[in-house]
Amino acid sequence: MAFPDLLDRLGDWTQEVRGRLQSNFNLAPYTWFRVGGPAQLLFNPADEADLAFFLKNLPSDIPVLVIGLGSNLLVREGGVEGVVIRLSGKAFSSVEVDDDLKVTVGAAMPDMRFATQMAKQGIGGFAFYKGIPGGIGGALRMNAGAHGAETKDNLIAARAVDRQGVIHDLTPDDLQHAYRHCGAPADYIFTQATYQGVAGDPEALKAEMDDVSTYREENQPTKERTGGSTFKNPDGLSAWKLVDEAGLRGFMLGGAQVSPKHTNFLINTGEATAEDIERLGETIRGKVRERTGLALHWEIKRVGKHRDGVSIPEFMDGA
Ligand SMILES: Cc1cc2nc3c(=O)[nH]c(=O)nc-3n(C[C@H](O)[C@H](O)[C@H](O)COP(=O)(O)OP(=O)(O)OC[C@H]3O[C@@H](n4cnc5c(N)ncnc54)[C@H](O)[C@@H]3O)c2cc1C
Repeated sequence: MAFPDLLDRLGDWTQEVRGRLQSNFNLAPYTWFRVGGPAQLLFNPADEADLAFFLKNLPSDIPVLVIGLGSNLLVREGGVEGVVIRLSGKAFSSVEVDDDLKVTVGAAMPDMRFATQMAKQGIGGFAFYKGIPGGIGGALRMNAGAHGAETKDNLIAARAVDRQGVIHDLTPDDLQHAYRHCGAPADYIFTQATYQGVAGDPEALKAEMDDVSTYREENQPTKERTGGSTFKNPDGLSAWKLVDEAGLRGFMLGGAQVSPKHTNFLINTGEATAEDIERLGETIRGKVRERTGLALHWEIKRVGKHRDGVSIPEFMDGA
């Protein structure tokens, strides 16, 4: 599956772009599931100004999708039309700490590395990130959280570039974070976050992070090809319990499996396609709804299009 080369259409202004542009770039290795099709055009901006320049010049009818570390992402086999933007490199991974322990970190910084770095510097408030294998940009968009803490808790500011290339300085109110939700406009590409850190003892912070890692290893399939929590927890309930009670622990569809270890995680056992994974998700939704009347909502972001002729109905084999 290949898209027409978008660079042929864009014209000379792309010569001034300092970042990297690659046509028909296979996205599967950029996702934890390791499945899916290509991006019509992948853009790795050199820095925030380069990102803004690109977006300002990109014709408005061309869709744009930003991805992070692909840990909550399912890319469909038909690929992603338009431009996929992935922030990477030093310009988006820097960390600056001021005298009041306000920490500004680039959106491409992996959460886990950030937590480790902060602990070493004796700055607390980030141990929960030790269990979340995404980047700061994804954490802002998903309001990633665990172990009773969420991204929004000590966030004091963020920056984003919109589809027109305008840079926005944002307050927590602008972001309207809620459980696995961010209310900032969908086209905003986060470039950095600023958090209020608190002074802590490096040894104690390390111990806190070790507890997080141990809990993860014992309770989640952290070494598998997965997309993290598949469904959001319905109010007052646990998605994993609903899946388990529907008798789906270990259930397989093609190469995709409901994790025997944690039933809200789906696994690519080796040869799964994105279609297998999505069909398995919809089968779960169908069976849970049939049993309980509840509609689970996907937490994993499914992006791109199906292969020609493929369609996956919602709530498969359900009520
Ligand atoms: C083993 C495992 C365990 C996990 N445990 C947890 C957990 O405990 N808690 C939790 O909350 N999540 C968990 N997750 C899910 C995932 O790690 C988080 O949702 C994470 O924040 C996603 O970040 P990412 O960089 O991987 O984003 P992606 O998966 O690449 O993208 C997710 C969404 O964020 C958007 N996005 C990414 N970068 C940006 C940006 N710069 N600007 C704007 N939007 C952006 C994308 O468009 C997409 O909509 C887990 C995942 C795995 C695989």
